[in-house]
Amino acid sequence: MEKSLTDKRLSDIEENYKELSEGITAAAIKCGRNPSDVRFMAVTKTVDSIYINHALSLGLDLIGENRVQEFLLKKDELNLAGVEKHLIGHLQTNKVKQIVGEVDYIDGVDSLKVAKEIGKASLKKGIITNILLEVNIGGEESKFGFTPESIGETVYEIAEIEGIQVKGLMAIPPICDDSVKNRIFFENMHRLFIDIGAKKIDNVSMDILSMGMSGDYQDAVASGSTMVRIGSALFGARNYR
Ligand SMILES: *Cc1c(COP(=O)(O)O)cnc(C)c1O
Repeated sequence: MEKSLTDKRLSDIEENYKELSEGITAAAIKCGRNPSDVRFMAVTKTVDSIYINHALSLGLDLIGENRVQEFLLKKDELNLAGVEKHLIGHLQTNKVKQIVGEVDYIDGVDSLKVAKEIGKASLKKGIITNILLEVNIGGEESKFGFTPESIGETVYEIAEIEGIQVKGLMAIPPICDDSVKNRIFFENMHRLFIDIGAKKIDNVSMDILSMGMSGDYQDAVASGSTMVRIGSALFGARNYR
């Protein structure tokens, strides 16, 4: 009997997961890193719950969703026991209240304003929210994030905000197929990560360096990424974005 499209996609995910896990391990070993220092985040935007649950059943324990609304709609259908949940997309200040307390981390905190809003909403709920600061490492007009030049200073201001804890950095470098150019952005991110960590600021720990996606995760791992965010290479092409 012919396989249904759903079954085909489920078995593709299984194969992709295996290949990507091996790819991450190989990339780490190749540059002398411990593979267990690099975590595999499944990026779940636009993906239906059945496929996400399948990925989780294979051993994935970390997901990233871009949109507040989409996450809130899907979360009850997901088997999230023991799974770390991150919001990875740009967060509008008017959505902050809805997401604080629903995820373990808010990545992609890209302004002082949104950091303050997260702090305020967290205090109200009596929790502390883990955040990553997004750096616009390519200096792109179209992208959100702190500039590489300002982050070293701004981080002191963010550290003062109650209700949040800075756990690391995140970046989405410019898309380029040139591995050498890619590596420059990733290396610059790694340098910021090390420099900020060395400042030993209260409420700031550089535990997570989130960079690398389906097309460039090997380069990111080679440059010190501790968390790769993988969507299409795991779940297949998306229908939007
Ligand atoms: C969509 C998305 C990803 C995953 O992209 P792929 O190229 O499909 O792996 C990673 N990070 C962010 C912030 C995203 O929005």
